[in-house]
Amino acid sequence: MHDVIIVGGGPAGIFCALSVLEKHSDASILILEKGRDIRDRTCPARRLNKLCVRCGVCNVYSGWGGAGAFSDGKITLDPDIGGWLPEILSSEKTRQYIKRVDDIFLSYGAPEKVYGEDEDSFEEWRRRASLAGLKLQRNPVRHMGSDLSFKILSRMKDDLEKSIEVRVMTEVESFIVENGVAKGVKTKNGENMFGRFIVVAPGRSGAGWLRKEFTRLNIPMKRNPVDLGVRVEVPAEIMDDITRDLYEPKLKYVSKRFDDNVRTFCVNPHGEVLTEFYEDIVTVNGHSYNSYRTDNTNFAVLVSTDFTEPFKEPIEYGMSIAKLANLISNGVVVQRLGDLLQGRRSTHERLSRSLITPTLPDATPGDLSFILPYRILSNIVEMLRALDTFIPGVFSKHDTLLYGVEAKFYSSRVEVDEHGETPVKNLFAVGDGAGITRGLSQAAASGLYVGHVVSERLKA
Ligand SMILES: Cc1cc2nc3c(=O)[nH]c(=O)nc-3n(C[C@H](O)[C@H](O)[C@H](O)COP(=O)(O)OP(=O)(O)OC[C@H]3O[C@@H](n4cnc5c(N)ncnc54)[C@H](O)[C@@H]3O)c2cc1C
Repeated sequence: MHDVIIVGGGPAGIFCALSVLEKHSDASILILEKGRDIRDRTCPARRLNKLCVRCGVCNVYSGWGGAGAFSDGKITLDPDIGGWLPEILSSEKTRQYIKRVDDIFLSYGAPEKVYGEDEDSFEEWRRRASLAGLKLQRNPVRHMGSDLSFKILSRMKDDLEKSIEVRVMTEVESFIVENGVAKGVKTKNGENMFGRFIVVAPGRSGAGWLRKEFTRLNIPMKRNPVDLGVRVEVPAEIMDDITRDLYEPKLKYVSKRFDDNVRTFCVNPHGEVLTEFYEDIVTVNGHSYNSYRTDNTNFAVLVSTDFTEPFKEPIEYGMSIAKLANLISNGVVVQRLGDLLQGRRSTHERLSRSLITPTLPDATPGDLSFILPYRILSNIVEMLRALDTFIPGVFSKHDTLLYGVEAKFYSSRVEVDEHGETPVKNLFAVGDGAGITRGLSQAAASGLYVGHVVSERLKA
């Protein structure tokens, strides 16, 4: 019998354990993680700079550290970015928890520098963005990079293992619930484990499982929209001025043709484009390192898509689009902006005439207009034109590369109360898998918060 069982060893689960231990150093805490130990996690695709080879349990998403282990490690300090936690806690309380998350990352060795804090410089960039028809959002951010994130999460494991039990390669199959009260979990290999409090933190890789399990338990869930678009890659010099100041400029644009919201997301200065695996499809993403720089900068341009009646399955829609890309390219398509505008596919020969060298060489040169709906492509091209007024050079026919499809499948949102507790007593849900957050800081903050609630209950 444990005091707390945490399902998922990503940032939300880890920070939940840290929070309980802060008040109860002798609490019996068990973390169950379906992936490998962090030091055993290697992605063959990344090692060989190839497309995803579809391992059984994805080493990028699963294992100690969760998706955080190989993330770009940008700690977003604004409470209103990266999820819906403020709707549960309020913006002010979320800010306080993010501050604690940030302090913990700092104590484990995160860099001191915070980008985007200087008011005057931000104001000047905001003014220039506004003249180009773009809205620049304030986004102070600390950058760890994939290499340092990995080290920091490894250090956390070394520390936590002195006080708690961690079982990797242990997948939870179901929750044990009696008379509306959570009692424990059953693992895939048939073991029953009991705990006074169960915190489920399965991330996006466990979101499908969570949805099925919560449907079985009649716990209400609400679907979030899907974000679809492309990853844009440009020579790094073009964006150096702005990324040096802000690191991640978060820009919003409302398209003239469709009146849709379009935004930039996950900017990786001097970074790399990479593939990722969601269920059985391959999509594109990006990251960068703290200690190694490429000659390119990448960022996503995304369009939010939702449906009402009669079709209301944004995730299935997004997956169908991503599958189209996989169908015609075996994975990810890369196209020069100029080829897209001229209505022709890119080829290796055309790509070789560009100044830019793709950081994902295994992407197939092709034609994104066979994949993305006109509405989405038109929104993306419009936003890139607006961006070019703000950051000259972004709309280059030869040297701007578009990779598709980038898709953000936000998990269905679990109904939790102001304590993070589901309608099943003593069962709490946190992080990205519960559809409450969509980034490191808020995921960790949600874990800290629920850890705090559980600590109070343990005291009682
Ligand atoms: C390439 C990449 C770059 C990113 N860069 C950034 C960034 O710079 N900044 C940022 O804020 N965010 C970034 N993110 C997102 C960030 O990593 C996530 O928001 C964050 O990790 C979510 O934390 P979590 O704990 O909720 O889930 P996760 O980190 O996904 O952890 C969940 C864990 O639960 C485990 N699990 C799932 N189901 C089960 C089960 N049934 N039984 C046992 N274990 C289970 C999984 O294996 C996983 O290890 C990035 C993500 C990726 C993929």
